[in-house]
Amino acid sequence: MRLLVVEDEKGLAEALRRGLSNEGFVVDVVHDGVSGLWAASEHPYDAVVLDLMLPGKNGYEVLRELRARAVWAPVLMLTAKDGEYDQADAFDLGADDYLTKPFSFVVLVARLRALVRRGAPERPVLLEVGSLSLDPLSRRVRRGDAPVELTAREFGLLQYLMRHRDQVVSKAEILDSVWDPAFEGSENVVEVYIGYLRRKIDAPFGLSTLETVRGMGYRLGADRPAQGSQAP
Ligand code: CA
Repeated sequence: MRLLVVEDEKGLAEALRRGLSNEGFVVDVVHDGVSGLWAASEHPYDAVVLDLMLPGKNGYEVLRELRARAVWAPVLMLTAKDGEYDQADAFDLGADDYLTKPFSFVVLVARLRALVRRGAPERPVLLEVGSLSLDPLSRRVRRGDAPVELTAREFGLLQYLMRHRDQVVSKAEILDSVWDPAFEGSENVVEVYIGYLRRKIDAPFGLSTLETVRGMGYRLGADRPAQGSQAP
């Protein structure tokens, strides 16, 4: 199994090279985003460990450009707790997993093995539910022809709901997938963001597609006129 490690902290990069080699991986290491993008585009890696804050191009730019080039090697992003971005952003941009520094090497190896096992299926380019469409690569969301502007968190939440269209998903499931697993706030934050989404994807269009299923969670479905609004 061949891995690419893109990490600018030389000490950490070297420790990862040694440790992962001892675990039986073949490991290439580069220290900046531009080299990372080049290496991952040129060679078929089983997985890429990608630091977020990198010189040249940051991890997000590298990841976005890789996906835009249809390079689907699974990516595990290394983020920092005090970073400019949060983990939801890592998932929004197509990272398959992430670890927050400082991380346990044992956990890193376990996650990498899981990623490699899962492999890299080609991602659908466009998600569609009724007249709603979301492009994970360009990060564009539309209702019909109308563009919908979302924050990174709203985008992550909508993407999750669209991937689970017509299914009831609980607040806990949403929190686990869209928020940092270490998030310790209340599940009510999900409710708040569901409200934000409704005001952007449903209310302006007289639709009610994002349903509350009492006591269970939420379900996103095909176009349905909101109660009290006139069907066209
Ligand atoms: Ca760094």
